[in-house]
Amino acid sequence: MGRGILLIATQNEHKLEEYRALLAGVPYELRSLKDFGVDEDVEEHGRTFEENARLKAERYRDLTGALTLADDSGLEVDALGGEPGVHSKRWAGDVSDAERNARLLARLLGVPDGRRGARFRCVIALAAPGRPTETVQGSVEGEVAWAPSGRHGFGYDPVFFVPELGATLGDAPPEVKNRLSHRSRAAAAARELLLEGRP
Ligand code: IMP
Repeated sequence: MGRGILLIATQNEHKLEEYRALLAGVPYELRSLKDFGVDEDVEEHGRTFEENARLKAERYRDLTGALTLADDSGLEVDALGGEPGVHSKRWAGDVSDAERNARLLARLLGVPDGRRGARFRCVIALAAPGRPTETVQGSVEGEVAWAPSGRHGFGYDPVFFVPELGATLGDAPPEVKNRLSHRSRAAAAARELLLEGRP
């Protein structure tokens, strides 16, 4: 009997690569949206990461008929009342990652050490045809750095300082980021579900 298919429903190549590493060994063949020829973008109008992850997983499951993994993730900054949160992707408008990070640092200019707390959060939804959708989550605590650092990763990685690393996620090569990231923690929980044959 052939292995089942698991669609990793993201348009973000970085995330796709991270999931390929994080889910190595699950009893499924991983496929991308590109593999399915799907280029539809699902509008993320949910108010929480969980709502958005479900929206995306169920929509792509319906489009493809495949067991589908989708996530929603972002950065919550305490000094900004949890923003950018679900607005992380387009926070500060249609600008480059570097420009977005510069604006974040500018917003936190007067905020001293000790009040620069932040976390990355990731919710993964797994949607299978004819079954209730399951969600799991992961997070990593850190601080908004004083200046960007490092060329690894994507998005807010260069301005997210992780005390246990003594470095930003931008400084962290993939195998280091994947040991502790919000996405790797959520993926570890998703992996458990998949190994149990859920959803
Ligand atoms: P979405 O989960 O694809 O809707 O996008 C979430 C946004 O949050 C991304 O576009 C990034 O700006 C940010 N983000 C999520 N995960 C990470 C990460 O691992 N590193 C840096 N930024 C991230």
